[in-house]
Amino acid sequence: MPQEKLAKSADEKSRANMRDYDAEYAAFSWEKAGELLDGLAGGKINIAHEAVTRHVRAGGGARTALRWIAKDGTRRDISYGELDEETNRFANVIRQIGAARGDRIYALLGRVPDLYFAALGTLKAGCVFSPLFSAFGPEPVKSRMEIGEASVLVTSKALYRRKVAQIRQDLPTLHTILLVDGDGDGDPGVHGLGELMGRASDSFEVEAMDPEDIALLHFTSGTTGKPKGAVHVHQAVVAHNYTGRVALDLREGDTYWCTADPGWVTGTSYGIIAPLTNGVTMIVDEAEFDAERWYAILRDEKVNVWYTAPTAIRMLMKAGTDLIKEFDLSALRFMASVGEPLNSEAVVWGNEVFGMPFHDNWWQTETGGIMIANYASMDVRPGSMGKPLPGIVAAIVNKDDGEAQEETGSDTVGELALKPGWPSMMRAYLNEEARYRKCFSGGWYLTGDLATRDADGYFWFVGRADDVIKSAGHLIGPFEVESALMEHEAVAEAGVIGIPDETAGEIVKAFVALKPGFEPGEDLRLDLIGHARKRLGPAVAPKDIAFRQNLPKTRSGKIMRRLLKARELGLAEGDISTLESDEK
Ligand code: ATP
Ligand code: MG
Repeated sequence: MPQEKLAKSADEKSRANMRDYDAEYAAFSWEKAGELLDGLAGGKINIAHEAVTRHVRAGGGARTALRWIAKDGTRRDISYGELDEETNRFANVIRQIGAARGDRIYALLGRVPDLYFAALGTLKAGCVFSPLFSAFGPEPVKSRMEIGEASVLVTSKALYRRKVAQIRQDLPTLHTILLVDGDGDGDPGVHGLGELMGRASDSFEVEAMDPEDIALLHFTSGTTGKPKGAVHVHQAVVAHNYTGRVALDLREGDTYWCTADPGWVTGTSYGIIAPLTNGVTMIVDEAEFDAERWYAILRDEKVNVWYTAPTAIRMLMKAGTDLIKEFDLSALRFMASVGEPLNSEAVVWGNEVFGMPFHDNWWQTETGGIMIANYASMDVRPGSMGKPLPGIVAAIVNKDDGEAQEETGSDTVGELALKPGWPSMMRAYLNEEARYRKCFSGGWYLTGDLATRDADGYFWFVGRADDVIKSAGHLIGPFEVESALMEHEAVAEAGVIGIPDETAGEIVKAFVALKPGFEPGEDLRLDLIGHARKRLGPAVAPKDIAFRQNLPKTRSGKIMRRLLKARELGLAEGDISTLESDEK
């Protein structure tokens, strides 16, 4: 699949934060990366100090930290100074209601300013922040609060009534619920946050935390099974800050938009922490995806750096290229994508219509921050995840029966593995020690993803280990087949699975959603199979293609291939707590 690379000009390279990848990689140390931050006396640290208070102390209090765009389009600008005060208030509030260091404070909220005050205020108070996606039903909300032994939940009146009231009696540790838009109507332990914030002091001495103290509890997306609670510590901010600087090319004063919801790790690491530590103005849009609205935000807010996800990019592609021509997006400097494999088709499309490629990067809830990336100063190879961050040693490993062994040759398929030891690495899966231990072998952290590395050191995603198809002796990654289908003009989205077969072991089946203006039918089905055979050869091309209005996805936008498979084979659907309705 490797195609022509999209070359950067010498001028572009010289303007990037990291001008020379190889030199930076060779000279890098995490100690030096730590020096980009303040730290607190006695070797202590606090994420919220680095994200907010530090800038205010340095005289940057007037700069806009957060520009919130409400669903109805009204805007609210919150400066670093105000953010410092609001988060101080929140820290005082949770202190008053009895939250101690280490207690778990959960949020179940849409993207509203209070969510950001709660996240950073919680960290200031030395408590652990755990964000939940607001579209979760009562069951996933309950199970995640049970695992983390939630003490406090910040939510809205409507969400409390619909999702929390009925599960409260099952959560004995949950002593207080704070409502951002009202009071508790007399329910015991339910308070109006606004009133408490109004009475609280706007000064607070940020808790000096040990670098290894827990700061964040993040649940994985549940794409492959039951979500795991990944534990992250305050020291992680060193990685958030550094990766924001080199992988997203964030610069003080930039306007930056991360479209991820803080209910997922991307929306916290790169939707709260990294942008603030790097001193940018971050855009927060309360509304859901809408192509026209998104282009208007990029234009009106003069977004310089944009971090989004393949599903959104595919939806923009689906909306057509004519729409974008109406918008002046000349402020854009850098675009990046994460969460799923980014088809080369999407990278090339970006380059044509935005005049710059999407820079794919790879990481997981477990890694806490970006691990492999395409950088502003590096030519982009469409379809590749890029190269490991300075400070990150990545390899392709295989473990037949014993310990994981590194594959030193190029282009060999194996499991993507990382040398443990970077600051934002998870420290545990909460209460799941055995599951955590299984992630390590032969001195490597095993990611569960299969990939290859080419002779130039670029990494290429093959598929999740669970999704890879073994057909007549071939190892087939769904991503390759999906990407080939995506090249066809009719295809908006594709999900590929293996179906058990007596002779071949498994055969490849594709599920395809079409772009507007195309109708499912036998002719198109045969045309797609023919196209895939030409691109991939008969051994790898799908034997069968089925049309779907939409593919099942997690709420964070990942195609759930395991669900396509379970449904196809009439098997149990497993944990579907993160499933977004397929009807959309
Ligand atoms: P679960 O672990 O609960 O099944 P999940 O793995 O989807 O869910 P996340 O931690 O949110 O949960 O997602 C990380 C995974 O997303 C990676 O392991 C990888 O499979 C996929 N991913 C992320 N970025 C990329 C990328 N740039 N290219 C390919 N895959 C990616
Ligand atoms: Mg995972």
